[in-house]
Amino acid sequence: MTAQPKLIMPLVTDATLDHWLNLHGLELLAEVLSHSDSLRIAVTSSFGSESAVLLDLVAQVNKATPVIFVDTGRLFAATTDYRDRLAEHLGLSNVQTLKAPDLMVKNADPDGTLFETDPDACCHVRKVMPYAQALSKFDVLIGGRKRHHGDERSKLETVELSGPHIKVNPLAHFSAEDIRTAFSTRNLPPHPLVQEGYSSLGCEPCTLKSCEVKNVRAGRWKGRKKTECGIHFADNRVYESLTDSGL
Ligand code: SF4
Repeated sequence: MTAQPKLIMPLVTDATLDHWLNLHGLELLAEVLSHSDSLRIAVTSSFGSESAVLLDLVAQVNKATPVIFVDTGRLFAATTDYRDRLAEHLGLSNVQTLKAPDLMVKNADPDGTLFETDPDACCHVRKVMPYAQALSKFDVLIGGRKRHHGDERSKLETVELSGPHIKVNPLAHFSAEDIRTAFSTRNLPPHPLVQEGYSSLGCEPCTLKSCEVKNVRAGRWKGRKKTECGIHFADNRVYESLTDSGL
């Protein structure tokens, strides 16, 4: 097998990546954000059921960190309301909402039924494309995915390489119990739909209530093989030292 190059970005040295690999949670987040003067760093958030935990850690380090939120136009109104309330609660001052141009969406999905006929194409135009445009402005993307979500996420590592980007997942090793503890100890406001029985939140037409303890994302694209919108694919690789990191 061909060895993967260790140095993937001119701005991040092997020593820096090796250091990051031995951290997680708030420690990892603070360390990565300490490089904000030399790296273009953003947090991506869906403002979903567990998003407050990562965003609270971000706010503890730097409230002006860019937070990227993609509005697909098919979200629950409660999610966009929650975005505003949570950002205010945490004092986040740089939440950036991205949306695909109306004309592009109309062209791909003239009658609004693309989520039924071709959900991958629907996610592509409404979510992946605006997200990809934002990526060009950043070197490092920090997200809230966790192993306990299962499926493709069950082997998630804290640092991934994705094309020219580094993706950092400070909560990769957080359990469901860790999330509950963070909500209670930090007094974080819950997404209002969690109380109505939604354990994971995406677009309204593709999200059902689900209380499966072992699969919090069970209500997403229910009845289909699809488990991800697509923004987390794109050539993700695990930094090669991870196998020796002990995390
Ligand atoms: S989650 Fe559903 S409605 Fe939202 S972009 Fe994907 S297919 Fe379309």
